[in-house]
Amino acid sequence: MANHLANFSIMTHRNVYMTDELQAIYDQTVDFVRAEVMPKGDRWEDEGKVPREILRQMGSLGMLGLRVPEEQGGLGLGPLASAAFAEALGSSTYAGFDVTVLVHTDMAAPHLLNSGTPEQLEHWMPNVLSGETILSIAVSEPDAGSDVAGMRTKAVKDGDGWRINGTKTFITNAVYGDMTILAAKTDLDNRYGISMFLIPAGTEGFTVSTKLDKHGWRCSDTAELALDDVWVSDDQLLGTVHRGFYETMRNFQNERMVLVGMGVGAAQAAIDLTNSYTQDRPAFGGKLFDLGAIRQRMAMNQAKVDAVRASMYHAAWIGEQGTDNVKEMSGVKAWGCEVVNQVMYDCVQFHGGIGYMRESAIERMARDARILPIGGGATEVMLEEVAKRSIMA
Ligand SMILES: Cc1cc2nc3c(=O)[nH]c(=O)nc-3n(C[C@H](O)[C@H](O)[C@H](O)COP(=O)(O)OP(=O)(O)OC[C@H]3O[C@@H](n4cnc5c(N)ncnc54)[C@H](O)[C@@H]3O)c2cc1C
Repeated sequence: MANHLANFSIMTHRNVYMTDELQAIYDQTVDFVRAEVMPKGDRWEDEGKVPREILRQMGSLGMLGLRVPEEQGGLGLGPLASAAFAEALGSSTYAGFDVTVLVHTDMAAPHLLNSGTPEQLEHWMPNVLSGETILSIAVSEPDAGSDVAGMRTKAVKDGDGWRINGTKTFITNAVYGDMTILAAKTDLDNRYGISMFLIPAGTEGFTVSTKLDKHGWRCSDTAELALDDVWVSDDQLLGTVHRGFYETMRNFQNERMVLVGMGVGAAQAAIDLTNSYTQDRPAFGGKLFDLGAIRQRMAMNQAKVDAVRASMYHAAWIGEQGTDNVKEMSGVKAWGCEVVNQVMYDCVQFHGGIGYMRESAIERMARDARILPIGGGATEVMLEEVAKRSIMA
């Protein structure tokens, strides 16, 4: 059956925020994933790895630098470009690939871009743009996920640098990546006294203790990291000492947005796949899609995905104006990621038994989507962000 991917076409959806430039980025990315990702994704899923060549290829096409200022070699675009890029990647149907790219470009790189010194930017950015240096961001720990300030990894001043001890877990891109941007407590008397550090792979005492085995996102690599007396120089401190918590929180809006964006792209692909499958599948003298229960539910799913897409671009637009968008972005992260999972549930359902088989794309897509309401800010944490901003004076 070859996943029904051969004969389904990704429908493109224009919206009011899509300039010609953003549409071109969207179209280029969709074309790229169709040509370079969809035919190879199954192999990468089996291997548990996205090959470096594909990331370098994206680098050579300028796809890794949408948000990087022009003077540093990027396109200097804003959050709407990340939203369009994430949505287009989501159409790949291989969310493990999408997240590999987006952790690099939109979850880790913003820390370097927003807090890096001119020397740090000059040193790291060219290889980040080309895909030679793949980044990860290490905040979560075995005993501190949603509660970021509860982290135990400590960095203590030691000569011209810092000595770091601790454990990080669930870190995307850290098994095969090249540099980790890592959060550690530096002010032990202050719960929020966190700083960020640049730690290249291979630094003495910095090791991958486990390559984690996951339910979905199979081609994305996820590490548990051990830091055993790791020494880094003062030059490797990223941003202002003790201010990393607040700097990290600022970058989280972009992280939330691209997770929704890739979810919207995937949900749209799932709807297109399912409409195509049910319009083809004979049943009761017609096709499955002729059944009101199916066509109406799929129409409702389309309406919901359209609404999530519009809300996400709107929240991105608010951010693009330089205005605080925490309430809007948290809301769409909470609601949107749940919608994506409801859509996946229905799409598996309407594929029938084949939707439960490893050979079908929808089986993988439903597994991949499950992390979206957990990672990068769980639904309940996002709803608290909305609730805190909903208290009437
Ligand atoms: C595949 C994968 C990739 C990841 N990649 C990265 C990465 O690259 N870098 C990184 O730093 N982290 C990464 N993470 C970690 C991810 O961000 C955390 O899993 C997430 O923040 C939730 O933290 P936790 O798992 O510790 O769950 P916990 O914080 O223990 O929460 C468990 C559940 O409790 C509920 N909950 C938590 N807090 C509240 C609250 N305040 N109110 C109500 N309910 C609440 C939520 O339902 C939540 O899902 C990744 C995780 C996975 C699974």
